[in-house]
Amino acid sequence: MNIIDGKIISQQVKDEVKARTLQLKEEKGIEVCLAVILVGADPASQVYVRNKKKACEYVGFKSLSYELPEETSQEELLTLIDKLNKDENVHGILVQMPVPKHIDEKTVIDAISPEKDVDGFHPMNVGALCIGEPGFVSCTPAGIIQLLKRSDVDINGKECVIVGRSNIVGKPMALLMLRENATVTVAHSRTKNLKEVCKRADILIAAVGKAKMITEDFVKEGAVVIDVGINRNSETGKLCGDVDYENVATKCSYITPVPGGVGPMTIAMLMNNCLESALRTVGE
Ligand code: NDP
Repeated sequence: MNIIDGKIISQQVKDEVKARTLQLKEEKGIEVCLAVILVGADPASQVYVRNKKKACEYVGFKSLSYELPEETSQEELLTLIDKLNKDENVHGILVQMPVPKHIDEKTVIDAISPEKDVDGFHPMNVGALCIGEPGFVSCTPAGIIQLLKRSDVDINGKECVIVGRSNIVGKPMALLMLRENATVTVAHSRTKNLKEVCKRADILIAAVGKAKMITEDFVKEGAVVIDVGINRNSETGKLCGDVDYENVATKCSYITPVPGGVGPMTIAMLMNNCLESALRTVGE
């Protein structure tokens, strides 16, 4: 069994982004810039935003940070997004989700220019992914493709089962695996015989949000298992995935741990998307 180390692979991605960012600055005088907007004081969101700012610093991006009070109106937020959309020095705009209840998430996503939507959530980018056109791909699924490719896992023609069909993980994951020529099944809470469906998988991707629900009897001998879940173990208080790691690890060929698997890839791919956005402005 091989452990796919997301810390090492995300570091490789960030170092590649860092090198290209420096080159872009030296050759074209462009400073890659990501604007991050946080509305309210949700502690988990504050941690995510802080980590994104740290990653920007590491790869050499300029980061603009807007930490707005909880009572910010939707109108005010949309005005800020509009200003950033028009600012040609800003290459990526990210609004940390969830936004407070009085703000409509979809209206916010739709307001971000698709050219700066480095989260890949805008319907134009989702549509582009669907029909195989260039665009920004949601960071977590894009990171999983990197984990697989950089671990030399062959995707072509393989049976892939994804458990979960959310807009940010399950669905874009299915489209990306299809693009890599896997035969894709998307399972969800209404799927019948989930265990049997999962057992068909050469590559099993769990994105559910239920601690250790994927036990060894869901996994075919020698399968590749990717665990997207981030859950807190109610007994130990530690982070754990959707996969019962200890028992599944003995059965599969590759597995991602939680923490240290898929998680670190998300921010690395965000950096990659933002660099790509800046490169596009100079036709690269
Ligand atoms: P959602 O809650 O949006 O989606 C969960 C999906 O799992 C739904 O499609 C749901 O089905 C399905 N599901 C729920 N219960 C079952 C069940 N018993 N059997 C089969 N399917 C089930 O979650 P996300 O996609 O946003 O996130 C999934 C997990 O990944 C979470 O733990 C989250 O924290 C983590 N995550 C990790 C990231 C990272 O960077 N590593 C990034 C994003 C998420 P239905 O549609 O029928 O309701």
